[in-house]
Amino acid sequence: MHQRLSFLAAFTLCGMTSALAMAQPTTSTSPAPAQVTPAGNDAAKRPNMIVIFCDDLGYGDLACYGNPTIATPNLDQMAAEGMKFTQFYSAAPVCTPSRAALMTGRLPLRNGMCSNRRRVLFPDSKGGLQAEEVTIAEVLQANGYATACVGKWHLGHLPQYAPTQHGFDSYFGIPYSNDMDRVASAPKGRASFADPKVEYWNVPLLRNGEVIEQPADQRTITRRYTEEAVEFITQHQKQPFFLYLPHSMPHVPLFRSAEFEGRSKRGLFGDVIEEIDWSVGRIMETLESLKLDEQTLVFFTSDNGPWLIFNEQGGSAGPLRDGKGSTWEGGMREPALAWWPGTIKPGSVSRDVASTMDLLATACTLAGAKLPGDRVLDSYDLTPVLLGTGESGRELLFYYRGYNLMAVRKGPWKMHLMTQDAYGAGARQPVKQDPPVLYHLEHDPSERSNVAEAHPEVIKAMLADIEVHKKDLVPAESQLER
Ligand code: MG
Repeated sequence: MHQRLSFLAAFTLCGMTSALAMAQPTTSTSPAPAQVTPAGNDAAKRPNMIVIFCDDLGYGDLACYGNPTIATPNLDQMAAEGMKFTQFYSAAPVCTPSRAALMTGRLPLRNGMCSNRRRVLFPDSKGGLQAEEVTIAEVLQANGYATACVGKWHLGHLPQYAPTQHGFDSYFGIPYSNDMDRVASAPKGRASFADPKVEYWNVPLLRNGEVIEQPADQRTITRRYTEEAVEFITQHQKQPFFLYLPHSMPHVPLFRSAEFEGRSKRGLFGDVIEEIDWSVGRIMETLESLKLDEQTLVFFTSDNGPWLIFNEQGGSAGPLRDGKGSTWEGGMREPALAWWPGTIKPGSVSRDVASTMDLLATACTLAGAKLPGDRVLDSYDLTPVLLGTGESGRELLFYYRGYNLMAVRKGPWKMHLMTQDAYGAGARQPVKQDPPVLYHLEHDPSERSNVAEAHPEVIKAMLADIEVHKKDLVPAESQLER
């Protein structure tokens, strides 16, 4: 309790109140070069932040979210000792835009990290996250935090877009998805995913700007990311740090190290998740042994929903409709756990609507830093939610697929202006819904019963919200089409 009170006091010292006041979307039209404001307070008192970000993990893939055959004791412990979110969202249903939004607290169309033609960046892409964007890492680095990115970046593989150009002191990982760069001699189509071999893909492993291994040995990648993470935490135990750990898994092709082979009742996919769970346990254990657990917020979530077309090798969205690639709930609603012993009430559950974009404003509060004030943000401070003292203030959640606004959520309601499945016949074209389709997500999380006719007033109010949203929306040129 003593520790908890001292952190609450530290928050106040850090200017939590002013950060809270600013954690509303701010308005401006032309982004200026990145500007962050160093805080004047004692850096040593500020909490560390670790963001563990899975790739293509579904809402139903963890034991603490109801999975019947995947064992995740460490993640379950995170939930038991921390906070579990049930209505937490990524900002896009695919990798690149989702990651850009997490890093910047902005919808992908504001920074050009989306497209209606190419949904993510590829090894032949020329674009990437622009220098004028302000990332969580830049804010924290400018405020005295040591920063590291360990894992999959996917915000531009050219040198000017590297993590080290965006606020990270160091980088270890792969520059884009682990299924890119497939070699010509590998089995065609999905055959190479059914029985994946390291040599089927030529994805490089980088340390800072240098390729240190190609192809990356994906069998040991989760273990090696974990070792890097543990080393970074250990080295920086005396100063505040930010660790961003975007795992390459469970994006197909699935790989796990020898110790996890055949371990899970759920097969290869389960083995992969159980190794990620082990990794989370190693990080919690390291924090505890260094007595940093009460000074560190660990946040665990994923970039988008499960890749359902891969059948057994894709995850599960649990009760939610569809998966990766779609703006149905399964594409964007994610497992999310926050762990901060002594500060977050053990076993708490937040049913508030929240987004990966909110981590920027949250990080600013933790660091006592000002939000970038010269641009439109879509970020709401989650610290009142984490501390159990209030709400984030987020009332609306917008679901974009590329540049298309597909749906909006307000309270329990989700209104679809357009629908499009992730794959299959329903994926070919977006279907305009006029009048819009309406679901009550708290009664109907699977989006099965359209209740639009019974609630014209809800539709009317949400259409008005969209008009307000559009007023400060200036889509940037697509980086994914370059
Ligand atoms: Mg992904």
